Amino acid sequence: MKNIFFDACAIPFYLLTLWTCHVRKLTKGRTNRLFIALACMSLICAIADLWMEFVVNPVPLSREQVILGTVLSFTYKLLRNSSLVVYLIYIFSVTRTEYRLNTLGSQLFIWLPSAVAVGALVQNFFTHNVFVITAEAGYTRGPVLMILYAISYIYALVGTAYCIYCRRYLVGSKWVALISVYVLTFAGVLIQMVKPHYLVEMFSTAVGLMFILLLIMRPEETLDGQGLVRDWNAYQDTLKRTLRSGRHFQIVVVEIVNAAEIRSYLGDKQVDQFFEIPGTFYLILDDAQIDVKTLIPPFNRTIAERMEDYARQGVRFNLEYCLIKCPDDLKDFREIINFGHSFRYLRKPAEVYEAADLIRERNYGPLTNIKEILNRAITEDTLEMYFQPIYDIRTGGFRSAEALARLNDPVYGMVSPALFIPAAERVGMIVALGYRILEAVFSFMAQTDLSALGISRVEINLSVAQCLQRELPERIRELQEKYRIDPRQVNFEVTETLFDNLGGIMDKNLRTLSDMGYTFSLDDYGVGYSNIQRLRALPLDIIKIDKSMVDDMFTMDGEVIIENTVRMMKGIRKELVVEGVETEKEAKACEELSCDYIQGFYYSRPLPAAEFVRFLREHNKAAPPEVGKT
Ligand code: C2E
Ligand code: MG
Ligand code: MG
Repeated sequence: MKNIFFDACAIPFYLLTLWTCHVRKLTKGRTNRLFIALACMSLICAIADLWMEFVVNPVPLSREQVILGTVLSFTYKLLRNSSLVVYLIYIFSVTRTEYRLNTLGSQLFIWLPSAVAVGALVQNFFTHNVFVITAEAGYTRGPVLMILYAISYIYALVGTAYCIYCRRYLVGSKWVALISVYVLTFAGVLIQMVKPHYLVEMFSTAVGLMFILLLIMRPEETLDGQGLVRDWNAYQDTLKRTLRSGRHFQIVVVEIVNAAEIRSYLGDKQVDQFFEIPGTFYLILDDAQIDVKTLIPPFNRTIAERMEDYARQGVRFNLEYCLIKCPDDLKDFREIINFGHSFRYLRKPAEVYEAADLIRERNYGPLTNIKEILNRAITEDTLEMYFQPIYDIRTGGFRSAEALARLNDPVYGMVSPALFIPAAERVGMIVALGYRILEAVFSFMAQTDLSALGISRVEINLSVAQCLQRELPERIRELQEKYRIDPRQVNFEVTETLFDNLGGIMDKNLRTLSDMGYTFSLDDYGVGYSNIQRLRALPLDIIKIDKSMVDDMFTMDGEVIIENTVRMMKGIRKELVVEGVETEKEAKACEELSCDYIQGFYYSRPLPAAEFVRFLREHNKAAPPEVGKT
């Protein structure tokens, strides 16, 4: 009798593997299913192998023992051979190179030896040339068994060679796990050759599969917090592998366009949960021919199902799709990643975009190379401050101005702040850029006698990230001293995204700057969700009504909204600036509404420093000045 200890241990190992797959929900998807098939086949093999030892020993055997032994041996040999094929396909699946199996040659290679093995086993029932079990001699090997062994070795050797070839497709530990199945099985076979009494082969395979389970099948590495979608690392990983394969494929970028609205609707508590569901989904489709439009309805349905909880609260998800054909549209890894980040800033409203169209957009170059552009803005002299005069209704002159950053890049030309400011926020360069802007404005103020030109205040935009810098007040104080600036001549514009970060450093910074003599205004009022209570939480002196409200001011609802906004703001003693006034009609209407200041192209576009000074000299001489459209 052989040493059955290892086979007996292999069985609980396989059961544990299968149970783990079940509880960790690793049962969906082709790769997982192949693994489960492999574990099931190996489990049956181990049982058959073990059982055989009891059935064919000791001789002589009864008729029932001969039949059962033959069935068990047949099952063992059939499944053992087939499991090597399944494992080979599994390797192709894990390395995402399954497409290589689509050729006739590889299909023949995969299935032909296996068919020969099955054929040999079936004909064995008549010829007994693979193995035979007799009552007197028990189990005896036949000459054709060598063919079965040879086939197993071919699969195992090819699989090992392919694993080595695929080294670059997988991170170290995953690759080790993948190849360990072969290494351990070879070791098992070797031990069994030297010591035929030790049935270690199935046990060594079980250990290999356990490695795979521990090191490869780790969805937590690639799933988001709710386990809904594979995460960013998984996307990058898959993208790299797919690019390396050199074949044609498509990427569909699906974006929840109203993510910000959804977030604000869900309120603070649920925001955290929401962040775990990325607002952008990336799907990599192996089939370059598939028509993406056919995917949209099922995808919309899936999202709706997954977000059911939110949907029940009345939250609607608007999705937009962008299609990238690789390598036709884009073929470089970085370029694809950058495109995914920036496409939302290029698009015009549509349900499906094609990358090919967006790439032709003027802003494509600047957006996808924004870090390089921002670096130049911070380290070289490509940043310039423009100033847009703000009209004071009460005195009839230009008493303040907004400083607006302009970037004239040597490679990409003029880049709009609507593009580079949000991009600088995204890539974490806004703080450095912000100090450059502050320095440029302070330096201009130091060189120009603005009071003599009738200007009492310059407005500077501050982004949230800047306000979250612990050292902001200190840095501003240094600049203030360096350029001898009177803080009362500076007003900082902040946006209501600030409200989401209130508390701690933000509060402290605003109060410190306020105590230093700086004032604050709330920019773009009317595009977000500020309510009056939140406004009162900040030391705000001025509210800037956004252009969108002005655009609507001659519609029935729009008129009511702007009138009531003005009344409400006046009620809590805020000064009001109306932004984006382009026509005389709008300017007159703002005056009648008893706003305090008007800013817009009707009076002047943002001007380079020298032109701004000329403008003031010309228009601020007498009050009220005669100004028209410039
Ligand atoms: P914002 O702070 O709301 O600035 C007003 C924007 O409206 C400016 O766009 C200005 O040129 C534009 N504008 C003014 N009047 C009119 C008008 O009558 N019609 C139209 N259509 N537009 C008008 P700009 O300069 O392109 O800046 C866009 C945004 O970029 C700014 O919006 C601000 O959020 C940001 N930004 C600009 N410069 C800076 C800066 O130095 N620092 C920071 N943090 N953000 C800045
Ligand atoms: Mg502003
Ligand atoms: Mg604004």
